[in-house]
Amino acid sequence: MAGAIAARRLTQAGLAVTVLDKGRGIGGRMATRRVADHGFAFDHGAQFMRAHGPDFAAALADWHTRGIVAPWGETGRWVGTPGMTAPVRDLLAGLDVRPGHTVTALVRKGSRWHLTVTETAVEEAFDAVAISFPTPQVIRLLDTSGLSLPGIERPTYAPCWTLMVALDGACDLPGSDLVDADGPVGTVFREDEKPGRRGSGTRLVIHATPDWSRAHLEEDAERVQTALLAALARHAGRPLTPAYARAHRWRYALLETTLGEPCLYDPALRLGVCGDGCLGPRIEAAFDSGRALAARIGADLA
Ligand SMILES: Cc1cc2nc3c(=O)[nH]c(=O)nc-3n(C[C@H](O)[C@H](O)[C@H](O)COP(=O)(O)OP(=O)(O)OC[C@H]3O[C@@H](n4cnc5c(N)ncnc54)[C@H](O)[C@@H]3O)c2cc1C
Repeated sequence: MAGAIAARRLTQAGLAVTVLDKGRGIGGRMATRRVADHGFAFDHGAQFMRAHGPDFAAALADWHTRGIVAPWGETGRWVGTPGMTAPVRDLLAGLDVRPGHTVTALVRKGSRWHLTVTETAVEEAFDAVAISFPTPQVIRLLDTSGLSLPGIERPTYAPCWTLMVALDGACDLPGSDLVDADGPVGTVFREDEKPGRRGSGTRLVIHATPDWSRAHLEEDAERVQTALLAALARHAGRPLTPAYARAHRWRYALLETTLGEPCLYDPALRLGVCGDGCLGPRIEAAFDSGRALAARIGADLA
C-alpha cells in the first residue's frame, strides 16, 4: 500500500515512476491466494481496513463508488473486492510495475541511482528512490549497499502464522476475535462471509497468536498446518476434514514499535523510506506514510 500510493501520487505529479516488487503478485501484506483447482481465494494477510483520518476515508469512499472495496461486518470495516489486493491493483493500474524483482543493492553514481535486482543491474538510472519494505528489510538493503539514513531504527514486528482452510458445506464456526489467548488459534475469520467472494462452502483464515507464531517461527509449514488444524478442531469440538488447507508464515506481520515519523527522506541522497514501519501496524498507516514520502520527493524533484 505504501509503495503503491507513493507511486500513484508521484505519477499524478508528472514524474515517471518504476515500481519493483519482489512478490510474484502485487499487494504485499494485502495478499490474496488464489486456489485455481477449487475456484476460490483467501486473503491470507490483512483482513480488513478502517479509516481514522480523512485522507484514507476519502480513498475508501472513492474505491467504494468504483466497486473496489465493500463494507464487511461491523461499521467501518472495509475489504477489497474480490480480494484484499484490489485497492493496491487500482493504485498501480497503468504504471510501470515489475513483479518478481527483488532489489538487492542501491548504487549511487553521480546524482543518479542504479539498482541491482538479484545480481542483475536494472537498465535505467533514477533520480530518487523510495523504499517501502518492512523496516528490517530496508535496513538489510541499506547495509548491503553501504548506506545509512538518519532516523532509521530497527522496529520490532510480531510474526504471524496463518492457516487457510476450506471445508465442504456449511459450518457453524463463527468468526471470532480471540479464541485462545495462550494460542495457537488467535483469530478466526470467515473468508466466505466477506462480500464479493467466489466459491461455495466454508473458508476460514486462522491467525495464530503472536506468541505461538514466534515460538514456532522456523518450523516447517506442514507441521504448523497440522498443529493449527488440530487446534481448530478442538475449538470446533469435532474432527474437521478440510477440502483444502495451507499454512503461510508472515515473518514481519504486525508492527510492535514504530519510527514515529510519517516517512524518512534524505534530500542530499534523494533516498526515502515509507511503510507501516513509520506510523503503525495498519493499512491506513502505510497509506499515510506513502503519501507523505511522495509529497517530499515531489517537492524536491519539482
Ligand atoms: C497476517 C496479517 C494480518 C493483518 N491484518 C491487518 C488488518 O486486518 N488490518 C490492517 O489495517 N492491517 C493488517 N495487517 C497489517 C497490514 O497488512 C500492513 O500494515 C500493511 O499492509 C503494510 O503495507 P506496507 O506497504 O507498509 O508493506 P507491505 O505490504 O509489506 O509491502 C512491502 C512490499 O515490499 C516488497 N519487498 C520487500 N523486500 C523487497 C525487495 N528486496 N525488493 C523488492 N520488493 C521488496 C514486498 O514484496 C511487498 O510488496 C496485517 C498484516 C498481516 C501480515
